[in-house]
Amino acid sequence: MKPATLAAQALGKIDETTRALVPPLHVTTTFLRDPDNAYRSGNVYGRADNETVREAEAVVGALEGAAATLCFGSGMSAALALFLSLPAGATIVAPKVMYWALRNWLATEAHLHGLVVVFVDTEDAAALSGAIRPDVALVWLETPSNPLWGISDIAEAARLAHEVGALVAVDSTCATPIFSKPIELGADVVMHSATKYLNGHSDVIAGALCFARADALADRARKIRQQFGLILGPFEAFLLIRGLRTLDVRVRRAAANAAELAARLSNHAEVAEVLYPGLPHARGFEVAQRQMRGGFGGMLSIRLRGGEAAAIATAARVKLWKRATSLGGVESLIEHRASIEGAGSPCPTDLLRLSTGVEDVDDLWRDLDEAMAGS
Ligand SMILES: *Cc1c(COP(=O)(O)O)cnc(C)c1O
Repeated sequence: MKPATLAAQALGKIDETTRALVPPLHVTTTFLRDPDNAYRSGNVYGRADNETVREAEAVVGALEGAAATLCFGSGMSAALALFLSLPAGATIVAPKVMYWALRNWLATEAHLHGLVVVFVDTEDAAALSGAIRPDVALVWLETPSNPLWGISDIAEAARLAHEVGALVAVDSTCATPIFSKPIELGADVVMHSATKYLNGHSDVIAGALCFARADALADRARKIRQQFGLILGPFEAFLLIRGLRTLDVRVRRAAANAAELAARLSNHAEVAEVLYPGLPHARGFEVAQRQMRGGFGGMLSIRLRGGEAAAIATAARVKLWKRATSLGGVESLIEHRASIEGAGSPCPTDLLRLSTGVEDVDDLWRDLDEAMAGS
């Protein structure tokens, strides 16, 4: 079945007792032990076991074609659980341009856990190939990547990594399982900030790891989740399932809006450059066409001819677009990204990041156009 069908019915699970179409929210922290001391239900304690979380994992896992899926209390905790699952001394290859907070952890904290991190331009095939040496344990990709929306070639990275026995993990938050299926392309793990498109309503912080195989790595990540208490809360899991039901229509509409705005902005007098992988002159367009199906996502950035001052002034003048960080919700957001990333960021100061929502595209255009014109 297609993702739209799987998601709309949350895999068709109903409550057997009441025949409710929407399964109940399980909030219990503990479970009754059998008289003979066994735990036949398989459920012991809420830091490891929650049925609502499992239902969310089943939907996300089906969308990604995963053999095992774990939901976490945030995208960051999902990613960190994977990094901490690697053996001490493991070498990670990571992109130069990627989600800022995660890049920051890899650059400043990972070594405290015995990890070695090598940053490369993963969008450059030759640079990637040069970096994937025999001592590499994990290649981390983010595609399209925050906030410049470059494209890394997942299939090529998987081919190179598997030759040296390394794994490939993909932060697919901005591609979503509607437009990209990293596991089909050879990735071993897919990570999501489910805070973004998967939930889609800016009211849940959540993360997920989807594993191509239910193997020792997945078990290790589950153990770390249990030990650190990183599991997603049941109410958040319930909201995530609810949000997932409309994933397909939301992201297709957002991507159509983003593509239309990218085309119009490319001809705007105030805009020096539009960064969007769906534009034919984009650096990653060819690879994006190969590894994304049906759309290039709802994220784009623009660089303003007037520089940083014009970017900040434009963000100050929008009325419909909301000036806020984050992405992937039904409402459109605009952000002067360099301000939040701070020192050392690869983000140019004249850049505005746009998370396109599902509003009417002409309303979005008019608001942006007026804000850039200074009215
Ligand atoms: C938001 C985001 C994260 C971090 O996820 P949280 O849910 O905020 O912890 C990681 N990667 C990408 C691409 C993101 O957009």
